[in-house]
Amino acid sequence: MKLTKTVAIVTGAGRGIGRSIALTYAREGADVAIASRTPDELETLAKEIRALGRRVLIQPADVSRQDDVQRLVDRTLAEFDRVDVLVNNAGTIIMPGDLLGTTVDAWDTMMAVNARSVFLCSKAVLPGMIEQGSGKIINISSVAGLRGLPNREAYCASKYAVTGFTASLALDMKPHGIAVNAICPGAVDTPLTGVSRPGDEKVGWMQPEDIADVALFLASDDSRAMTGAMVEVGGWSG
Ligand code: NAP
Repeated sequence: MKLTKTVAIVTGAGRGIGRSIALTYAREGADVAIASRTPDELETLAKEIRALGRRVLIQPADVSRQDDVQRLVDRTLAEFDRVDVLVNNAGTIIMPGDLLGTTVDAWDTMMAVNARSVFLCSKAVLPGMIEQGSGKIINISSVAGLRGLPNREAYCASKYAVTGFTASLALDMKPHGIAVNAICPGAVDTPLTGVSRPGDEKVGWMQPEDIADVALFLASDDSRAMTGAMVEVGGWSG
């Protein structure tokens, strides 16, 4: 197992990619704190994690809110004593995605959920990671954080914010032994793409497990030489 004696926080763990990452981490030996806004989904996941013999902490939270994020990190530290891995996975897309169809509220929500949450969660775990002299932050950006996509101005802007944040924080955390990397997936078959790409043929699309395996690599010692990387996981579509 690659993650024994590891404590991980996974945001947006209730479904899709985050759920798969949390389960993969638990299978590899990690204790996991799981957060999202839908308690039922977290409860279901927690049962599966416990069945694997791991400890799990359920924290309903809107990770775009500072008080919710602080509660998540405080409870994780109280329960597990440390945080080794933070996966900033929670994200959203609001349709329509074209600029003229995007409301100011939709812009603000995408920036808050996709980008501000990454800042808030990182800021909350870093004092502990700096003190322990180790840690791994994994930000789930997107190919939309590496290049423009049509009709996705706000979503792209929020994901470019994540890649820029990752690049900058990685530099500052090098002296502390804390790795900061981003995963930039292409199309993954999840509830999110059910909203953003309804009716699309899913030819060459990935499954959440394809991203979870890369997130496992970045959480494990196998990636010990990597920080500041934007790991594109493009799949075979397009
Ligand atoms: P998903 O199926 O919609 O799941 C998103 C998860 O994030 C849910 O558990 C959701 O739970 C949670 N979440 C949303 N807003 C939240 C908030 N304010 N606070 C806390 N949790 C929140 O999405 P996904 O496809 O798995 O996407 C996961 C990440 O990968 C996102 O950052 C997304 O942008 C990125 N991504 C996805 C794809 C793709 O093709 N699917 C491609 C590239 C990147 P609640 O709604 O219950 O809070």
